[in-house]
Amino acid sequence: MRLNRLAAALAGAASILALAACGDPPAAPVKLEEAPAGQLPAGVTPTVYRLNLKADPKAENFTGAVEIDVTLDQPHARIWLHSVDQDIVKAFARLPDGTEVPATFTGNQAEGGVSSLDFETPLPAGGATLVLDYVAPYNFGLAGLYKVTQGEKDYLVTQMEAVDARRMVPSFDEPRFKTPWVLTVTAPEGDKVVANTMEREARPLGDGLVEHEFLPTRPIQSYLVALAVGPYDEVAGEPVAPAPGRPAPIPLRAFSAAGKGERLADALAITDDMVLWQEAYFAQPYPYGKLDLIAAPDFAYGAMENAGAIVYREAALLIDERTPLSQRRAIYSTHAHELAHQWFGNLVTPKWWNDIWLNEAFATWMANKTMHAIDPGGEWNLNPVAGGLGAMGNDALLSARSVRNPVSTNGDINDAFDGITYQKGGSLLNMFETYLGEEKFREGIRVHMRRFTDGVADADDFMASLEEGAGDTSVTASFRTFISQPGIPMLDVAVSCADAGASMRVTQSRYAPLGSEIDRQATTWQVPFSARIETGGASTVVKQLLTEKTGTIALDACPDFVMPNAGGTGYWRYALDEASAAKLVANFGKLSAGEQMVFVDSLLAGFNAGSVSGEALLAGLEASAAGSALAASQPFDAIKGIHARLSAKGKNDLSVWIEATYAPLEKKLKGKPDAALSDREKLLKTALAGLLIEYGNRPAARAQLVRKAEAYIGLGQAANPDALPAQDVATAVGLAAKQEGWRFIEPALAYVFASENQTERASILKALAANAEPRLAGELVGGAANLPLTSSEIFTLLGGAFSNTGAIDTVWAAFKDTFDETIVKLPEVRKQQVAAIAGSLCSAEDAADAKAFFEDKAAAIPGYERKLTQGLEQAKLCSARGETQLPKLAAILAAP
Ligand SMILES: [Zn+2]
Repeated sequence: MRLNRLAAALAGAASILALAACGDPPAAPVKLEEAPAGQLPAGVTPTVYRLNLKADPKAENFTGAVEIDVTLDQPHARIWLHSVDQDIVKAFARLPDGTEVPATFTGNQAEGGVSSLDFETPLPAGGATLVLDYVAPYNFGLAGLYKVTQGEKDYLVTQMEAVDARRMVPSFDEPRFKTPWVLTVTAPEGDKVVANTMEREARPLGDGLVEHEFLPTRPIQSYLVALAVGPYDEVAGEPVAPAPGRPAPIPLRAFSAAGKGERLADALAITDDMVLWQEAYFAQPYPYGKLDLIAAPDFAYGAMENAGAIVYREAALLIDERTPLSQRRAIYSTHAHELAHQWFGNLVTPKWWNDIWLNEAFATWMANKTMHAIDPGGEWNLNPVAGGLGAMGNDALLSARSVRNPVSTNGDINDAFDGITYQKGGSLLNMFETYLGEEKFREGIRVHMRRFTDGVADADDFMASLEEGAGDTSVTASFRTFISQPGIPMLDVAVSCADAGASMRVTQSRYAPLGSEIDRQATTWQVPFSARIETGGASTVVKQLLTEKTGTIALDACPDFVMPNAGGTGYWRYALDEASAAKLVANFGKLSAGEQMVFVDSLLAGFNAGSVSGEALLAGLEASAAGSALAASQPFDAIKGIHARLSAKGKNDLSVWIEATYAPLEKKLKGKPDAALSDREKLLKTALAGLLIEYGNRPAARAQLVRKAEAYIGLGQAANPDALPAQDVATAVGLAAKQEGWRFIEPALAYVFASENQTERASILKALAANAEPRLAGELVGGAANLPLTSSEIFTLLGGAFSNTGAIDTVWAAFKDTFDETIVKLPEVRKQQVAAIAGSLCSAEDAADAKAFFEDKAAAIPGYERKLTQGLEQAKLCSARGETQLPKLAAILAAP
């Protein structure tokens, strides 16, 4: 169908070109024949949008009238722009003298709704106004201007990034086009209407309608335009007090679905601390005049940084007394991230999607700095270390993306919003900030913000700002080697204490796990190496930029021990010579929290690469159990992964080891009053309880928790929310699903369908699907599309089921059987991501099946290619680990 429309459009275009060729002005009007893939052609630049919408949440579609002022570099007979799912009912251009030039609109000529306007006579160079009237359906896949129903009430909200503003308005939908937007929205009387700016005027029109006119925005890109309409609760916050350079307070409000307004208070209360700290950091006032926080009744992402009107999923904004600490921290972190975007991304915008790391890595890094400043006891400064280590799982793949990766298709754009961009990127910023010094780095950021205010900038622009602000050109070449190359530097460190003088030789390669086809020698980084050396009981940090494959660093004396990643801030893995490795284990307690974390990571990674023995792995993990809270809990996911793939006998042996290693830590934590525990220790205590009850040797505790889960969801009794603390719900529900089967799952599903708490619904659904026995897990996946769930929840359920290792065969079969009905129910941005499911399979045979299946379904999941490639690689690596490393570990655990 698309091919037919494309062919018709191209045939029509040819005949118009033939007409226009007669009596040409000296400069022939531009008419690009082929619909452009990727970026729109140069030469047509929007300068302002005036958008008038009629949007009733109870209706199924909306109408729009847009006027786009454009500047043309030369005469144009055809203009390309973006439009998806819109019925254009009128299109013409108005010239500065008032002449109207009729236009023919031809939609959807290339991926992403690339569409053309062909003019009866070419538009002359200079200014013109494009005028388009249209009708469009509300999207139900959480994209563009979309509709959600909650509690039988209808709401509208927007999600434009990356390429969905074109669903709400025909537009030049790319980040480099920053213009003022002037919105006028007609909505039912009584509905709240929220946009990027303050309302200038509300005019009752009669017929129960009100026309809301908003002030023009500062120049913003189309993906930052925001609108919410519906019976939202509105809560006013304290305005953010004036600050240097900003004499006016910032009006602050928050919105939620009806009845949930009370849960906005905590997020409102912490906002001013965040904004004030960030303004001081950037030395630039908050740019957008007012600030609204909107908890959308359903949302595909965590949150979206729309200028002055940030939208969140409910679980990322609403807080009450039942919100667990981990989630409260995640909410603050997300909130600080979105606020940081008001500068990184909104005030200064990437020119194109290959530089989206300039938004996401920076906002991720800045969120942790902000939280560390306003909550110093929260150890937020360890988040970049944890984030970087988390990203390494994906970065260890041959098919890993670079932080700054070429982008030519819409699939590439969606791929760019991944852990590499956010977490690896944030970790790299932390590394270079630490290496360069906090103040120098901050001056670079300030120069950048000043230089590109309301403009666009790319990686080169940022590097130039950093060099100028920092007054230091030493690290940008190194920085580029990290953002433009995928993979993890593996540093082999050998310490020598020869008579001639002690030294440390560092040799780099690219990390590769067993079974990988990565060429370890093909990549070289300029590593901002930083090691902690302890000599004679005194500690020093040695720094050196390693620009070659091998570098040698002289030491003053033979060291007591060497930690080849000072503070844990370096984005690399290391291996020490045998003697030095033994010294490091012996001195584990002297390492900082970040250093302990990279210690655990390098140990696990070394085991997966075959360079660390099973005995050394277990000894290192046993040492880490006495470490800082984050280091102690760091191996838990790996331990659970190993458990899932062991035989019944192996599982028993592992539970003995888990008890021996972690029960003493539990005892130590339980010995302290809660008030004496840090946040990190509280989180460890919860995670540890989950690990020991689920994977240790505690049948009585398990049975007790299952009874609590039954009371919580109301199995054979009235549901009792006090039966379980919120942080234990997922573990308890998972255990009950595993042990009780359908007897528990059926009432648990009924509980979910009746609940209006999105956080709780998602957590229970995921736990059920992740723990059900094979037949039931398959039934959940097979029936997902027909359950009364939101599109995000169906995706959550699938994610849970695909982490259910023991049930993967039935889950995969059910997924394939019901793919066609399930895929249409998922959020637009999640469709391509289902191909990642291949990574949950652990055999060459299943991987081949997945490859054939997804290639066959390509049309339903455009842009799936990288997710599939990565999933297939993960399946292959999983299979290699299962063949070599698991049996070794099982044998060691079985030994008396
Ligand atoms: Zn972000």
